[in-house]
Amino acid sequence: MTDITLAPIQPDQPSHLMATYGRQAISFVRGRGAYLYTEDGTEYLDALTGIAVCGLGHAHPVIAEAIAEQATTLVHTSNLFEIPWQTAAAQKLAEVSGMEEIFFSNSGAESNEGAIKIARKFGTQQGVRLPKIIVAEQSFHGRTLATLSATGNKKVQDGFAPLVNDFIRVPFGDVEAIQEAALQHPDIVAILIEPIQGEGGINTAPQGFSYLEEVRNICNQHNWLMMLDEIQTGNGRTGKYFAYQHTNIVPDVLTTAKGLGNGFPVGAVMTQGKAVGLLGPGSHGSTYGGTVLGSRVVYTVIDTIQKENAVENAAVVGRYIVDQLRAKLADKNVQVRGFGMMIGIQLPKDCAELVAIARDQHKLIINVTAGSVVRLLPPINMTQAQADDLLERLVTLINSYL
Ligand SMILES: *Cc1c(COP(=O)(O)O)cnc(C)c1O
Repeated sequence: MTDITLAPIQPDQPSHLMATYGRQAISFVRGRGAYLYTEDGTEYLDALTGIAVCGLGHAHPVIAEAIAEQATTLVHTSNLFEIPWQTAAAQKLAEVSGMEEIFFSNSGAESNEGAIKIARKFGTQQGVRLPKIIVAEQSFHGRTLATLSATGNKKVQDGFAPLVNDFIRVPFGDVEAIQEAALQHPDIVAILIEPIQGEGGINTAPQGFSYLEEVRNICNQHNWLMMLDEIQTGNGRTGKYFAYQHTNIVPDVLTTAKGLGNGFPVGAVMTQGKAVGLLGPGSHGSTYGGTVLGSRVVYTVIDTIQKENAVENAAVVGRYIVDQLRAKLADKNVQVRGFGMMIGIQLPKDCAELVAIARDQHKLIINVTAGSVVRLLPPINMTQAQADDLLERLVTLINSYL
């Protein structure tokens, strides 16, 4: 072990980091399960898990051991060679997703880039010259040029024109708007949506998950690819392995990342049915995609989620948290929504300041999105006792705020 001790960051210290983030003036040096620790040993309950990333909690011993052992054995050889761990990870991911073909990438945005390329290839093969993709308002698909263009948030796009402009935007949950778009644009080839909008405010469609079934029908009717962005909702987050499994449909293209590596940067774009075989040799690739190390992590994360019954746990404990919040905040003007461990509390006013109050006064890490939605993304393997701990801190916080 090298022993390098970093000096604590001073408030006015000049930094060479590009100022792309509004950072909180706190850093954590250690984590364990649902808890994070600062240098002086202060414990924080983490209901954010690195933004839906560390679903199995921090420093999970099984994942840590897999990383350590593989790091001292072989990290990377490139996709010029067979990678047994990548094949095994794909086999596991196919099992839990119901998808057929898997391409490993390194992030969510990259996975969606893959999906967008698949849609264009699909259209091109059918002689559509300028293929278009339907996307939703308030969506978030990433920060690359194509994915920020697909994103339904002007702030994400501002200053980056010209955008990739072959996206057609409809209100989330509105199937009539999709049918109308179909009439106006004969060159639509796919639709890309999140089953529950994460960054947009934990938005579920008004008709619930049957929205996905309605979209599936429309896609069948028009021969479009149904593409789901499950970068945030995947990997057990909503109480099913993938959120679409709350329904009986299967998408043609499925993307994921975040919880797939429990903090190790990996992503995947998956296909089945008519989307299979569209990307062949030379049409897509990634130097880092599916390294030996990354693939072993994916394999181990899925295996651990299965062995711990973490998906079932997310459903049960998530339901408990939602029910308790609804009961305990019944006299407040709030709406609690979400599934599993993806929970939003819509407050009647903007509440960005709650992040700092929760952190400093309640030692609780939360996030606020869409201005007035408290977003909870706790570990999917959170225990009932930890959920009670979370509820106590959170209810006190919201009660004193409203
Ligand atoms: C986080 C997220 C992305 C982008 O993932 P990155 O790994 O940050 O590129 C895309 N779509 C959804 C739904 C997300 O939540």
